Amino acid sequence: MTIRQHEAFIIMRCTTGMESTRKGLRAGHLKKDTYERLLCVECDENLDTKNDPDKIGRVRVCPDCGGEWKEIG
Ligand SMILES: [Zn+2]
Repeated sequence: MTIRQHEAFIIMRCTTGMESTRKGLRAGHLKKDTYERLLCVECDENLDTKNDPDKIGRVRVCPDCGGEWKEIG
């Protein structure tokens, strides 16, 4: 993505908080591969998983752009 798109992406994340994976899929920021694994649409990268110590649940992280999505359920 371009610098400008990247900036808009960061600003969007700062103003709206972390998206859920479900919202990310609906908004077109995430997609699923044929094995139902989550991918970052911008980078075409499989998301890593990390535990969020402050909240119940896990956070999915794109290793390329650093995008984070919370996993619900
Ligand atoms: Zn990414």
